[in-house]
Amino acid sequence: MRKCLRCESEMLENLEIMVSNGGYGIDVREKGIFKTSLGKIKCAVCPKCGYVENYLEDLEKIKKLKETKNK
Ligand SMILES: [Zn+2]
Repeated sequence: MRKCLRCESEMLENLEIMVSNGGYGIDVREKGIFKTSLGKIKCAVCPKCGYVENYLEDLEKIKKLKETKNK
């Protein structure tokens, strides 16, 4: 469960950010044309205060990237 950072209500998770009038989400990549996506950005919304939070659902690629950066 994800709690709102502002008011500590339970947030609605697993929502997607969409480009308006399009069917595409937004994902996170390393800089560079040939870098693969690190994951799609998911979104959670607090139903009480409207606070929106973005997060990555799959953390495996981020963990691997962190390992390579630490070398
Ligand atoms: Zn809230």
